[in-house]
Amino acid sequence: MHRICMVGTGYVGLVTGACFADFGNQVTCVDLAQDKIDTLNQGKIPFYEFGLEELVERNVREGRLTFTTDLTRAIRDNDVLFICVGTPRGSDGEADLQYVDAVARDIGKHLNAHKLVVQKSTVPVGTGRRIHKLIQENGGEGKEFDVASNPEFLREGSAIEDFMRPNRIVIGTSTKRAEGILSDIYKPLYLNEAPLVTTTVESAELIKYASNAFLATKISFINEIANLCEVVGADVKEVSRAMGLDQRIGGKFLHAGAGYGGSCFPKDTEALYHTGRELGVPLRIVEATIEVNRDQRLKLIKRTEELLGDPAGKTVAVLGLSFKPQTDDVRDSVALDFMQYFLDRGAKVNAFDPVAMDNARREVPDATYAADIFDAVKGAHAVVIATEWNEFRRVDMEQIRDLVTGDLVIDCKNIYEPDVMAKLGFRHVGVGRGRPQPMEQA
Ligand code: NAD
Repeated sequence: MHRICMVGTGYVGLVTGACFADFGNQVTCVDLAQDKIDTLNQGKIPFYEFGLEELVERNVREGRLTFTTDLTRAIRDNDVLFICVGTPRGSDGEADLQYVDAVARDIGKHLNAHKLVVQKSTVPVGTGRRIHKLIQENGGEGKEFDVASNPEFLREGSAIEDFMRPNRIVIGTSTKRAEGILSDIYKPLYLNEAPLVTTTVESAELIKYASNAFLATKISFINEIANLCEVVGADVKEVSRAMGLDQRIGGKFLHAGAGYGGSCFPKDTEALYHTGRELGVPLRIVEATIEVNRDQRLKLIKRTEELLGDPAGKTVAVLGLSFKPQTDDVRDSVALDFMQYFLDRGAKVNAFDPVAMDNARREVPDATYAADIFDAVKGAHAVVIATEWNEFRRVDMEQIRDLVTGDLVIDCKNIYEPDVMAKLGFRHVGVGRGRPQPMEQA
């Protein structure tokens, strides 16, 4: 049993903290946000994540999981301190490390015995050393502590499953003691056959960014192929499916659409690019990935406008507001950009999402938030499907057709078949769904 403190109780801190508690450890989750801690202490979860409520409830009930805003006490009372605070995009695309730095300083001030400080937030290579130095400079000089890196790969929407059944666990350490403690914490997972990769701190830091940038690159790559498909009359769904069946390529992250969004890929690709630039190692593929992604989103928005005509006075329905299904996270979501763009040009925007309405309302207060899909599409001149929630796949399109005013459906996630939609009388715009011309016209 380890005494563990999660500093930062967001998606990563709360999910991993609850999972560590479930392994039998004593876990304290700390956050600066009093309202978040109050919500958790009332038995509620501050965001939507499948299965999390039960996991938290069980571990709180069994006395292994607690929540507090008292960081000083949590530092003093625990042996392993996981830093899970946000590392948002800075003004120049770099990772903003102010929250990480603040935690490191606090740890330095309150060191009272050996601590293993584990960096779990996604941070640029070199941050482990920076944390070490900050702890030393703030009172840790001469005291016993280790700094390790343990990047997190969980995905919102399947976070518990991802944590419990990871493809790999990466621990970057510089001492045997740190490696021993972290290996022991993760023992329940590698006994279950999850590969444990032990590396240097620097390698671990880079593994996370390189992995995210690679996945983002797959997305931008297939989006460029999709754009070509439209011109040559090929269907990107056919192309990507056959590509993905090659095991060297793999089908995941090979779906054309409006590009990646969310709380990780946009900021992580930019931060990695920034690191390369700072160190004089230009990362040209990462740069292109970022540019293609930016253009792809804008291209779909502009295409919608082109087909809709002057948006002023028209109604645009946007379905799916989170950046992907099974989460209420709207950070950098395609839907919000669509909504703001058309609101700015005088359209009425009706929006609907199964779980992300409250978060979206905070970001785009001028939209109208509908009770359900049918309420959202009533009178719409264009319907934009921005996130592939299952209920949008299954929806009765004949009913939708009877409710809309226009015939335009912008299918950012390619969830409908162009032929079926055409038969129903819709002008369907997918991504990369080119149609071949008859051979004799060649
Ligand atoms: P988040 O914004 O949901 O949570 C961060 C929390 O840290 C906030 O609640 C904030 O109040 C708290 N915080 C900030 N400073 C603090 C301090 N000094 N003391 C205590 N609490 C403090 O962020 P997140 O999505 O959990 O991401 C955290 C890190 O993990 C980021 O670096 C992110 O890139 C990385 N990551 C996120 C995901 C994901 O899917 N969300 C996956 C893997 C890695």
